[in-house]
Amino acid sequence: MTFEAVRAAYPDGLREIVGGGPFDWPAGHATDDTDLTRAVLLAYLEPGDDLVRTAGEHMLDWFDGNWPGRTPGSRPFDIGGATTTGLTRFRETRDWRRAGSGAGSAGNGSLMRCIPTALARPTADPALRAGEATAISAITHDDPRCVHACVAYTEIVVALLAGESPREAAGAGLLAMQALRGIDPEDGAAAVELAIGQGLDIDLEQAVDQGDAGLAHGGTGYVLDSLALAVAALVDPRPAVDSLVDVTRLGGDTDTNGAIAGGLLGARDGVSAWPASWLSQLQFAPEFRAAASTFATSGG
Ligand SMILES: [Mg+2]
Repeated sequence: MTFEAVRAAYPDGLREIVGGGPFDWPAGHATDDTDLTRAVLLAYLEPGDDLVRTAGEHMLDWFDGNWPGRTPGSRPFDIGGATTTGLTRFRETRDWRRAGSGAGSAGNGSLMRCIPTALARPTADPALRAGEATAISAITHDDPRCVHACVAYTEIVVALLAGESPREAAGAGLLAMQALRGIDPEDGAAAVELAIGQGLDIDLEQAVDQGDAGLAHGGTGYVLDSLALAVAALVDPRPAVDSLVDVTRLGGDTDTNGAIAGGLLGARDGVSAWPASWLSQLQFAPEFRAAASTFATSGG
């Protein structure tokens, strides 16, 4: 929905999970963001001998309808174009280096599902985390902006888990990008650095008042728009719920922008940030809670 359509339907923002929308979604049911986050999460819980390949296999399970709540063989109808292309290539090659939708396709479809790497590897060597975040992104999204956005996001989450302040954590993302500057012709790392900087400058409350956050593509699916919005939510001083509701009030790719911002807010404030009425409705909440406990106990 556009900003105007969201404002007309919910003048004060939508603060309960009600379902419906353009796809008539059941309340609390996962969309592709959460489904594919789960695909990556399952790989970290049982990596086998090749973590990245296992993550890709779970993504194919989702693609093929081998997934909780879905009719076997049915295609997800909220699948993105790059995800379709990337997974089709991955099905043929089973190799992330020979998958992906190619450079120039810079959607937010890998950023929305990259948080498990940070949760599972909070104390690992940053180079190992970066390698995993890169490869898991590249299964579908191998454009340098997508890959580097995932690396930066992972470092931001790790910094938050270590107790750093929101601005310090954003700084960890910037530092990670400075180390990667210039390694690809388009300099995806420099572009991600700019997006984090843009996010630090966005006042989310004011953006909602004006119906404009000044994003390059209006928050309609471009990876760096979604990253900037998530950083804006992270450094917003208000309670997490207010920030997250405002991210979705801006319209555009609301489920994905919300998922990406929600990941940072959850890492910042913990599960107690979210209303019980939300948590009780979420399709995979019990499974995700158990996974979080597993990672917290193992300490990465
Ligand atoms: Mg979406």
